[in-house]
Amino acid sequence: LDPETFAGESRAVINFLADYYRDVETYQVQPQALPGCLRALLPDAPPENGEPMDVILEEVRTHIVPALTHWQSPKFFGYFPMNASTAGFAGEMLSTGLNIVPFMRVASPAATELESAVVDWMGKLVGLPDRFLFSGGGGGVLHGSTCEAVVCTLAAARDRALSRLGHEGILRLVVYASDQSHCTFQKGARIVGIPRSNFRIIPTTAASGYGLTAASVRDAVEADVASGLVPLYLCATVGTTGLGAVDPVRDLGELAQRHGIWLHVDAAYAGSALICPEFQHHIDGAELADSVSMNPHKWFLTNMDCCCLWVASPAALTSALSTNPEYLSNVTEESAGAGVVDYKDWQIALSRPFRAMKLWVVLRRYGGAGMRAYVRRHVEMARWFEQALEADGRFEVVAPTRFSLVTFRLRPRHEGDGDAVDGLNRRLLVAVNASGRAFMTHFVVDGKFVIRMAVGGAMTEMRHVHDTWELVREKAEEVGALQNE
Ligand code: PLP
Repeated sequence: LDPETFAGESRAVINFLADYYRDVETYQVQPQALPGCLRALLPDAPPENGEPMDVILEEVRTHIVPALTHWQSPKFFGYFPMNASTAGFAGEMLSTGLNIVPFMRVASPAATELESAVVDWMGKLVGLPDRFLFSGGGGGVLHGSTCEAVVCTLAAARDRALSRLGHEGILRLVVYASDQSHCTFQKGARIVGIPRSNFRIIPTTAASGYGLTAASVRDAVEADVASGLVPLYLCATVGTTGLGAVDPVRDLGELAQRHGIWLHVDAAYAGSALICPEFQHHIDGAELADSVSMNPHKWFLTNMDCCCLWVASPAALTSALSTNPEYLSNVTEESAGAGVVDYKDWQIALSRPFRAMKLWVVLRRYGGAGMRAYVRRHVEMARWFEQALEADGRFEVVAPTRFSLVTFRLRPRHEGDGDAVDGLNRRLLVAVNASGRAFMTHFVVDGKFVIRMAVGGAMTEMRHVHDTWELVREKAEEVGALQNE
């Protein structure tokens, strides 16, 4: 790595990206890109001789950017946001640039200590009880995804149970979540060897805002206990992916404690809102949980990837995940032994990036007040959109808008119009996305096709939400929904 070339080429990349962010609003959010469109432009083999950076950047501009879905467009409202920011990017550059690998404290002491400090900071910001902080006997780690956090906590819960039951006991272990919980939960349960017949996916209803009720989980748990099974793990979600629903953490925590069930709280998206006191009631009862996770890369101005996982008992996690090969054994006594965090034992992979740098820069640069203002702006935009839908009358809001996700659909005009209205809503979503002027995704609940508008882009302003409302109305007319009113 030649420092001068590094500086010059990096500047070119930054200028390229600055132009991208300047112009991203003018791009079609979702490209009209037919399958194979990029492959057709690429040679079959890599070049034999290296090429100049400006040639490469030009190809990014002409070949790749036109076929991207622009997640950073202020008019991207699909899935959940994946925030980028100047501080997130600066932190990522520092992390990538230093390129250290903090799998053990001794492998990079400052990186490990920064990670432990930064997860404690985040835990305090989201209002977690002390027992999840290093200062309170628990602790946290930065994973790349919630999926990884769920697999690791499932493994910890499984091993804790099997140390009592013996290995054959795995066939008796049962896991619980709602029909709204993320598919990550079922994938994780499969990975750690829970029999599929022991997954309890508990139905939710509109009456509880699509959150779990403690009574429905209790019935399932008691039935399992009566048939000799062992309740293992309950995943509660604060802010479900489809509808933004919230499971009642305290009620579920009390139930989990009575039955010795590991309670995990998945706040992947809505965890960012928990930094605002007005949202913290959603994790009331978190002191009864065993683990909590949230993704700063979604709605916390932290570029991909970054997931905070906190556990009340680090020992439960590390006894499931620790490895001690000779080539990693520690010969420097002062950084070995009790109280030393070796993050390789808190995750699946050995190698890991210096994510703490990124989150630390974000927290330092924007501060708690800046982040709260940021989240509240999006919440306000989502409320405005929700009110516009409600005032119109031809649309219905499907689930209560708790954070910045609005779920809506065109109403049936007559009883028994269900199928036709589903088709209409589907065509509406396709028309909105095909316009290139906004991008949304969908969900299906109670058999109904629902459009999701997830506000939370770092560059999204109220004017983009106003324009998107106009777009939705215009396309609804085009697909025939608003005729003959
Ligand atoms: N849990 C919830 C509630 C989510 O919304 C998502 C993603 O949107 C996930 C889990 C999966 O997160 P990841 O992609 O980090 O595994």
